[in-house]
Amino acid sequence: MDWQWCEIDTDALSNNIRTFRRLVGPDVLLSPTVKSNAYGHDAVITGKAFLAGGADWLCVHALEEARRLRQAGVAAPLYVMGPVALSDLEEAVALDVRMVAYNFETIDRLEALNLPMKLHLKIETGNHRQGLELPELLALARRIKRCPKLEIEGLASHFANIEDTTHHQYARQQLDLFEKALSALRAEGFAVPVPHLSNSAAALLWPERVFRMARLGIAAYGLWPSPETQVAAVLRDRGDLQLCPALTWKTRIAQVREVPAGAFVGYGLSYMTTHKTRLAILPVGYADGYDRGLSNLGHVLIAGQRAPIRGRVCMNLTIVDVTDIPEAKLEDEAVLLGRQGDLCITAEQLAGWASTIHYEMIARIREGIPRYAMPGSAGEPLSADAMYREIK
Ligand SMILES: *Cc1c(COP(=O)(O)O)cnc(C)c1O
Repeated sequence: MDWQWCEIDTDALSNNIRTFRRLVGPDVLLSPTVKSNAYGHDAVITGKAFLAGGADWLCVHALEEARRLRQAGVAAPLYVMGPVALSDLEEAVALDVRMVAYNFETIDRLEALNLPMKLHLKIETGNHRQGLELPELLALARRIKRCPKLEIEGLASHFANIEDTTHHQYARQQLDLFEKALSALRAEGFAVPVPHLSNSAAALLWPERVFRMARLGIAAYGLWPSPETQVAAVLRDRGDLQLCPALTWKTRIAQVREVPAGAFVGYGLSYMTTHKTRLAILPVGYADGYDRGLSNLGHVLIAGQRAPIRGRVCMNLTIVDVTDIPEAKLEDEAVLLGRQGDLCITAEQLAGWASTIHYEMIARIREGIPRYAMPGSAGEPLSADAMYREIK
């Protein structure tokens, strides 16, 4: 028996890709990113579900993520967005990935090894993370041109300020710089068949400007990038777009016990009972990615009801109050994230309690916790309009 597991709604994942396909049309390559164990959803289960929904490529951060996908039989094109060590270039070629290019050393080494590789140049447009300024980018392109086995397949960049605001002036400026770089490359005779810049928020807001490929992330997992993006989508009459969250994180009650009024709960004595209280001990803690910031703030779902967290989240254990859930008993399921009955704990809620973002909340669910592919497990999707109505 598992004390903790995640149920992954593979139908929801596939449906999210279909939603984006309707949005961007048939000619755009949909390339969802399955980095960080697919934002905590399991890279193999998720990668296969995305491809079943019509994704064309998959993005990863690290070469080891590409290795895991290939070992699991994923044959689709893989694009490595993060750094590849010079000593790992032979493996990158063997794994048949394409990769981002932003330094001369990589080109020198590929040439010396006489290896073929499809490269995506990264232009600096305002994120200051991996990109090259235009003159340097053109110099790198000319250097690559001297190597017959190397191909400039793509041009990439990444938005710095798109989810955090409803004012997209900075993002528009990045778009313009990207277009300028693409024109400059093409003016020098580089075809660059696969330019790509859009993440989830950009694909949701400007589906007509995703160039040839969209590197979807959070929205492919059924989560809106931010409330600001959701508001911006509603304002653009795109609020009917339905995204389906796919992940349910569960544990089981390891002990139920009664304590008297005035009893302290957990490290630091941060909670004291005010009346006779029934506590349930859950074998989940911050080492599993259940953030310590949830202490005395969050709740879990047991028997279709809310059970508040009492005291501090420990490394491996969390204590919740089940005084008002008399039916709660040993080994009953507790939902940490997702639905149970009519109630739902969203990744956004958990992130809010823990003072972080939903991206971090899901990406940090410990990789060793089993994930099970369970089509239909997450329930009905909710559009931004529906959420907005709920708020009203
Ligand atoms: C993670 C990532 C994405 C996806 O971002 P979302 O905001 O999750 O859509 C796209 N591009 C790059 C380079 C990334 O690292």
